[in-house]
Amino acid sequence: MAEYRQILKELRQAFPQPVSNQVHDSYVVFSFMRALDQVDAMKSASPLLGGPVELDYAAARRTRMPDDSSTLEEVNKQLVEHLAGMFIWGHPRSQINVVPAPTIPSIVGGLLPSIYNPNLCSDESSRHVAVAEIEVTAATADLVGYDPDRAGGIFTFGGTGTLLYAAKIGLEKACPGSGKTGQREPAVIVCSERAHYACRTVANWLGIGEDNVIQVPASANNELRPCLLESMCRDALKEGKKIAMIVATMGTTDAFGLDDLEAIRTIRDDLVDEFSLDYVPHIHADAVIGWAWSVFNDYDFEENRLEFRNRTVRALAGTARRIRHLGLSDSLGIDFHKTGFTPYVSSMFLTQTEEDYKLIARGDSTMPYLFQSGDYHPAKYTLETTRSGSGPMAALANLLLFGKDGLRSILGHLVSMAEVLREHLEAHASTSVLNNENFGPVTLFRVYPDGVDTFSEPEREQADPTYRERLLAHNDYNRRIYDLVHEDALRGEGVVISLTDCYRETDYGEPVVALKSYIMTPFSDEKYVDAVLESIWKARRAIAEQEIASQ
Ligand SMILES: *Cc1c(COP(=O)(O)O)cnc(C)c1O
Repeated sequence: MAEYRQILKELRQAFPQPVSNQVHDSYVVFSFMRALDQVDAMKSASPLLGGPVELDYAAARRTRMPDDSSTLEEVNKQLVEHLAGMFIWGHPRSQINVVPAPTIPSIVGGLLPSIYNPNLCSDESSRHVAVAEIEVTAATADLVGYDPDRAGGIFTFGGTGTLLYAAKIGLEKACPGSGKTGQREPAVIVCSERAHYACRTVANWLGIGEDNVIQVPASANNELRPCLLESMCRDALKEGKKIAMIVATMGTTDAFGLDDLEAIRTIRDDLVDEFSLDYVPHIHADAVIGWAWSVFNDYDFEENRLEFRNRTVRALAGTARRIRHLGLSDSLGIDFHKTGFTPYVSSMFLTQTEEDYKLIARGDSTMPYLFQSGDYHPAKYTLETTRSGSGPMAALANLLLFGKDGLRSILGHLVSMAEVLREHLEAHASTSVLNNENFGPVTLFRVYPDGVDTFSEPEREQADPTYRERLLAHNDYNRRIYDLVHEDALRGEGVVISLTDCYRETDYGEPVVALKSYIMTPFSDEKYVDAVLESIWKARRAIAEQEIASQ
C-alpha cells in the first residue's frame, strides 16, 4: 500500500462513517464520552474547571502544525486541557454575567449540524434545517408581538450582527441606494448612553462614523430619556441629517434598564409628520437580553398561577410593562445565547416585515426573492455566505424544551434569587443597591466601610463634586472587596460575582465602580445568595482589620 494510503486509512477512522456502522458510531460517542469524563475530573466545589490557570501566550505563539498525524485520543486530551480555568456558568456559586449554561437539547441542536454541516445559505444545502430557521422566526415573532405571517428572521453572528443588519436596513430607508453608491449624506444612529457599544462598532463599520452616534442621556433608572431623544432627533433633522436608526435598548447589559419603546415610537411617528420625512426612521429594539421576558406578555400577574412570591411578581410585572411593547419596533435583536440558554452563537435578527430584506438583497432588489418564490435563499440578503445551522437548531430545541411555562419558571426563579439578594443588601447599613428600579436578574451594588451613611452617600457621590475624593476612595474599596470575594469563591466558599469599572459616570465625570451579581443559573438557590453576603461581610472585616494593622 502506498505510504499516503496507509495514513488515509487511519484518518478515515477519525471521520463519522458515511454508511451505517454502529460499531464505529459507538466509537464516535465513546470519544465524546471520554472527553466529557476528562472534563468531569476537573470539577470541584469551586465554580471553575480545574484550578485557576496562568495563560501562557508566549508558549502559544510557538505552536506549529505537526508533521505527523495525531490520534483522536491525543487530540481530545489537548482540547480538554483548553477548558482548564473556565468558569462553570451553570454552577450555583456562579453569578458572573449574562452567560447561560446551555441545556442538553440545545447542545444536541448545536451538535447535529456540526456532524452533517447544513449550510443556511440556501435550502438546497440545508433542507429541513433551513425550515428550523423559519420555525424559530414564526414562534419568536408570535412571542414578541410581531405578525408571524409577515415577520422575517435570520440567524447571525451575535447581538452585534443584529444591530449591523438593523442599521444597514435603516440606512437604505433613510438614504436609498447608499449600499450601491456609498454613503453620501450625513446620517446618524440615535441610542441611549446606556446602549451597548456595538452601536458604535456598527456606525464605524458601516461608514456612518462613530462620531455620528447620538447618545441620549439616560435617567437614574437607566432608561433613555424620551424628551431628550425627541429634541436630539429634531436637532439632527434640522441640521439636514438622516436618521439611519433609533435603538431602543430593551435590557441594558449592566443594569437591565428598559427603554420606553412606546414613547420612542410615538416620537418617531410625530417627527415623520412634523418634518414631512420621505422615509420612516427605522426603530430597532436591542432586546438581546430582554426578549425572553415576552413569555410574560400573556401571564396573569393577578392570578399568578405559577405562585411566584410577591416581590418577584412585582419585578416581573415591572419588566413586562416595557417588554410587551416590543411589537412596536421595526426590527429586533434576540440572543438565544443569553437569556435563551443555548450555546454560542445563536442570535436572531427579526424584522416586523420580511419586505425589509429586499432593501439589502443582492441583485435586482425589486424582485420578490423571499419566501414567495417558494425557495429559500437567505444568502441573497445575508451578510454572511455560509451560515451554520447550529444557531436555529439550538434555539428551536429550547423553545420546545421550555415552553412558555418553563421559561417563565426559570426567569421567575432567577429574578426571585436576585430579589432575595436585594432584600438583604437593602436591609444592611453598609450596602447600597444602585439599580433598584431595574427588575432583572442583575444587581449592581456598592459596599461601604463603617461610618458611611448609605442612605445619602450614593446620591452625593453621583452629584456633588466635593465628594470626588470619597467617591474614588470608595471605588478602591469596592475593588478590594471584589478581590477578596473572588478569592473566597475560587476556594469554593463564596460565589463568583463581577465588577464593573464604570457602571455610570458621576455628574462631574468620574466613573462609579460597582459590584455586579448576575444570576443566570437555574441551579441558583437562596443559600448561595447567603454565601455572597457572608463573603462580603468577611471581606469588609478583613479590610477593616488591615486598616487597623496599618495605623
Ligand atoms: C451582549 C449585548 C450585545 C452584543 O451581543 P453579542 O451577542 O455579545 O454580540 C448587544 N446589545 C446588548 C444590549 C447586549 O447586552
